[in-house]
Amino acid sequence: MKIFVLNCGSSSLKYQLYDMTDEIVIASGKVERIGMDDAILTHEPTGKEEVKIVTEILEHTTAIEKVFEYLVHPESGVLSDIREIQAVGHRVVHGGEVFSDSVMVNEQVKAAIKGVFDLAPLHNPANLVGIEAVESVLPGVPNVAVFDTAFHQTMPKKAFMYPIPKILYKKHKIRRYGFHGTSHKYVSAKAAEFLGKPIEELKIVSCHIGNGASITAIDRGKSVDTSMGMTPLEGLMMGTRSGDLDPAIIPFVMGKEDLTLNEVNSMLNKHSGLTGISGYGSDMRDIEEKMVTDEGAKLAFDMYEYRIRKYIGAYVAAMDGVDVIIFTAGVGENSDILRKAITENLTYLGIEIDQEINRVRSKKVRRISTSNSKVEVLVVPTNEELMIARDTLRIVKSNK
Ligand code: ADP
Repeated sequence: MKIFVLNCGSSSLKYQLYDMTDEIVIASGKVERIGMDDAILTHEPTGKEEVKIVTEILEHTTAIEKVFEYLVHPESGVLSDIREIQAVGHRVVHGGEVFSDSVMVNEQVKAAIKGVFDLAPLHNPANLVGIEAVESVLPGVPNVAVFDTAFHQTMPKKAFMYPIPKILYKKHKIRRYGFHGTSHKYVSAKAAEFLGKPIEELKIVSCHIGNGASITAIDRGKSVDTSMGMTPLEGLMMGTRSGDLDPAIIPFVMGKEDLTLNEVNSMLNKHSGLTGISGYGSDMRDIEEKMVTDEGAKLAFDMYEYRIRKYIGAYVAAMDGVDVIIFTAGVGENSDILRKAITENLTYLGIEIDQEINRVRSKKVRRISTSNSKVEVLVVPTNEELMIARDTLRIVKSNK
């Protein structure tokens, strides 16, 4: 079965086309600057030359039509007929409290995605536009929605409620939802498979450290707590996001700096984190290079590492133990310097890392802890697109 995976943003989209017989990507690509007369389509057919075109693409439906044109293109195509696509999996950021699993899209599901626009105003409207664009270009082909929040719906109330007047939860659904669920679910399953143990026997702390970053406590396969909250701003210090801070800072800064709510929101989401502290930007590679000589970059790295380590400690406490710690995503998979800094301060857990192995670059799942270590420490490359494709296949099969 061929499955098209779509991640649709407000002015861009990314796609991968899978042949699920052996789970291989037969084409991938992206469209950027949707809405402009100089939009960019990059199409990468596996085993063939990449295509890059600049053209007017004013809406998502046109963007998807263009992508499909290239999927069946005589030279750079990978399909003989677009109808070979038997299902489409969509990344949807927010599923609110309605969805604890991926789901076949119908009118009710679309209404529910719309129902939580308030909770993810930048993402959910774009995700729905993507679904509707595919419906119009590929009528009759099943669409499956895969939610970033779904995996965390197993969190107990004591973990997902905020200690603010309860009426706000009732009226506005203000609670913690968590994100990166597709990634945390994928890497925890991969880790269990790698260790040859049932996930039902493992306590896992999964660290998804990319531009956005979150840590999840996974107790016997279920998310019991996660560091992101109602929005992806809570929790760890990130590339440009602040993560946790005293909420009293918000009115204080608004008063002192004469800022509006929108300006404070933008400060916390776009100008904080590594960017705000280092002054160099959000890319961990730059921070690591500069921190040897620059105090700002060094402080940014130290704060970033310290906050990750505190969350690991918190989640070991939340689960009363830990068997496996996973590092994943752009920084987690690639920064041996960060992994070293974190793990050499976790000796109280009986963790011992083989620093030689830690330094090895690989795209494979690998154990970086020694055989003496009391906790398995793994690097597991994430693959959210593959997880979406697998979920799409599962949901389509179960609806037959
Ligand atoms: P996103 O949240 O956008 O999906 P990614 O998971 O792709 O983010 O991670 C992007 C981050 O990964 C960037 O901040 C980048 O600096 C970091 N990164 C990529 N390669 C390396 C590396 N070799 N060393 C340190 N950080 C890296």
